Amino acid sequence: VGAPAAAAVDAYVEQTVACPGPEFAEVQRRAEEGGLPAIEVSAAQGKHLELMVRISGARHVLEVGTLAGFSTLWMARALPAEGRLVTCEVEPHHADVARANLDGAGVGETVDIRVGPAEDTLLSLVDEVASGARPPFDLVFLDADKAGNPRYLELVMEMVRTGSVIIGDNVVRGGAVLDAESEDPDVQGIRRFLTLQGQHPRLEATAVQTVGAKSWDGFSLAVVTDG
Ligand code: SAM
Repeated sequence: VGAPAAAAVDAYVEQTVACPGPEFAEVQRRAEEGGLPAIEVSAAQGKHLELMVRISGARHVLEVGTLAGFSTLWMARALPAEGRLVTCEVEPHHADVARANLDGAGVGETVDIRVGPAEDTLLSLVDEVASGARPPFDLVFLDADKAGNPRYLELVMEMVRTGSVIIGDNVVRGGAVLDAESEDPDVQGIRRFLTLQGQHPRLEATAVQTVGAKSWDGFSLAVVTDG
């Protein structure tokens, strides 16, 4: 399938089933106005994340990599009234745009944006979960620097429970994930991330290739088990 056809099918999926409301166009308008890169998930993928939150019955969601809050909004609106989402972002300007977007979309109260390097934020969250100050996370979406994914996974495993779901984005990278000799730290990060999931005694995982408006890539999906 050529890229134009894949993008056209994504547009068709968006119109027929994903059906983003006007609040998502507003998120993208603010992102563009703020000069943020257009590297958010597609609407089809955002709806997929929303459905994963619904299907898993998640109440506490953790996201690593906020950007303008596009994927954040898809997941936040799937949460029950008492649900909460924590999202980690290193760029203060991205966090500011996301805050305006999430407040504007009416989920501001649901979302806690933590600004700083994800590793530092995750270390704080590990302490909060260990002390009982917050419950473990039911669903985690990793979508920041992919070189950091192995470390993020290690920390995430300290704050999930049996049955929690872990999703990773950009795990195919146009096929570059196959290159064991790659000098791209993100490719090596993803390779290690997938290997860790395949070998982890408490994870059952897979990865699904995708093709669409965001080119040839894929999501990883894992569930936490008793081991
Ligand atoms: N999840 C977003 C969406 O689909 O709407 C897209 C996230 S974008 C691919 C990655 C984001 O992660 C960027 O906003 C970037 O600034 C942030 N980021 C990169 N490295 C980071 C780090 N070490 N800690 C926290 N955030 C980071």
